[in-house]
Amino acid sequence: MSVLSAKHFHDEKAAYAFVEARVWPEGPVCPHCGCFERIGLLKGKSTRIGVRKCYDCRKPFTVKVGTIFEASNIKLHVWLQAMYLLCSSKKGFSANQLHRTLGVTLKTAWFMAHRVREAMRSGDLAPFGVNGGAVEVDETYIGREPGKPVKRAFHHKMKVLTLVDRETGRARSMVVDNIRPATIAPIVMENLAKEARLMTDEAGHYMKVGKEFAEHGVVHHGRDEYVNPTDRTIHTNTIEGYFSVFKRGMKGVYQHCGKQHLHRYLAEYDFRYSERAALGVSDLARTDKVISGVVGKRLKYRDSLGPALASGE
Ligand SMILES: [Zn+2]
Repeated sequence: MSVLSAKHFHDEKAAYAFVEARVWPEGPVCPHCGCFERIGLLKGKSTRIGVRKCYDCRKPFTVKVGTIFEASNIKLHVWLQAMYLLCSSKKGFSANQLHRTLGVTLKTAWFMAHRVREAMRSGDLAPFGVNGGAVEVDETYIGREPGKPVKRAFHHKMKVLTLVDRETGRARSMVVDNIRPATIAPIVMENLAKEARLMTDEAGHYMKVGKEFAEHGVVHHGRDEYVNPTDRTIHTNTIEGYFSVFKRGMKGVYQHCGKQHLHRYLAEYDFRYSERAALGVSDLARTDKVISGVVGKRLKYRDSLGPALASGE
């Protein structure tokens, strides 16, 4: 049977029950006053699906309040379809394709996808490399940095810094304005435990900060070396794998991306990578996880509206 034949992908009532079980695992909580003891389900014939009433503050609410679903007219079961598609497609799912698959307008599809990316944003600040694990750090270049003339090399491209914790398999990426040591060092310091084994290539911007950790393993890409010959655990091949999915996705699926949106695409790739099948996470479990992340991630339409819309991405 197809995964998409599950009831919550088609039936609005089932969709509400599905989302409620994930957002409120302990039962409904009033988003207005935080009360959870005196909440009733409104069952009148003209009542919309999922409307509850808090008998403490007397206000009605649904599970959509305070989440990425708030103030949207899109049916919840359509949201669940969008989330599943974005969670199960390794390289991403374009707004155009969402628009055609879900039967919503391109504008709506674009907005939905950005809200789902917000739900994927983990906000996890725990350092990588605790207990002396290896953490690979590397940068990559993509698209066009706004206002920079096109030259050789990468100066006119947007810059992304990524960290991958080899033990936990998690990735954390960020957009950086440049790759000078003064920019890179504080990020590496903040995101790595002192006892970590830092793994980088021979780039100069990692040399000074590398001394702050238990070990700094360097692989010399300039010498065509992909694994350090003296210690074969020294390499950045895990992160190269991450970048290859990210770049193929950004090129093949999303095509254009403004700098103001790049962090959300990175959140999407980080999320799918950190919750990937190789770590035992199924497509459905991944979708479950993103549904639990919908709370407190409202994104206003004007925040997400950008030039990518005009380009049809
Ligand atoms: Zn209340």
